[in-house]
Amino acid sequence: MRIILLGPPGAGKGTQAKSICNRYSIPHISTGDIFRKNISDNTPLGIEAKKHIDRGHLVPDELTIDIVKDRLFQEDCSNGYLLDGFPRTVKQAEALEEFLISRGENLATALLIKVPTEFIIDRMTGRRVCPACGASYHIKYNPPVNEGKCDVCGSDIIQRKDDTEATVRERLEVYDMQTEPLIDYYGKKDLLSIVEGTRAINEVFESICNILGSDKK
Ligand code: ADP
Ligand code: AMP
Repeated sequence: MRIILLGPPGAGKGTQAKSICNRYSIPHISTGDIFRKNISDNTPLGIEAKKHIDRGHLVPDELTIDIVKDRLFQEDCSNGYLLDGFPRTVKQAEALEEFLISRGENLATALLIKVPTEFIIDRMTGRRVCPACGASYHIKYNPPVNEGKCDVCGSDIIQRKDDTEATVRERLEVYDMQTEPLIDYYGKKDLLSIVEGTRAINEVFESICNILGSDKK
């Protein structure tokens, strides 16, 4: 099962990705997580990516496409995967399509989590993440049991540098210009499924399971 999650920043892609990957036993490939790991390890990729991420801009296509291809070649992707945050441009989508064709593979679906802009600022500015294990929370909608501490590993949770209101507004503009065209791109290929992302986290997950099917594939 090869799935793409589409949707604006803050739609709930990372949140749903964890549950989907758990249920269907496929790896969760988040380009944002890969970049953040490289930033914290201070690699050349991280140093380059940080310049773009901190401004709310996209990391250049060539760089992003190469790291995704490298990841998809790994053994754990042989039975499927979930891509979260990739593709984000038509060029990335075309590169993914070429990659799939070259391997005789196809996508199960591009799943759009639909959330109107008025929800996004609240979701993004309230997001807190664990720098140690990557778990994600929301101060109102998904708080940790102990305030400020990660439920999974107990570390102090933090706000991402690109989750301030000004950067979120920039990211939303980038989404409208560069990523939203993918809705049409996958719609025309008859690969698009849509879930309403404004409901509670578990209700959104239920709708996703209805689309993907109840059996593990
Ligand atoms: P994305 O990966 O699409 O940027 P996240 O999954 O990180 O988005 O979600 C953004 C924020 O919104 C997080 O703080 C998360 O806890 C919260 N969130 C996710 N889904 C919902 C939901 N259905 N209702 C309320 N808050 C949500
Ligand atoms: P995310 O964790 O998905 O919100 O991504 C955080 C940031 O990483 C984005 O705002 C971009 O700067 C960068 N990024 C993540 N995925 C991509 C991608 N597919 N193409 C370009 N930049 C990306």
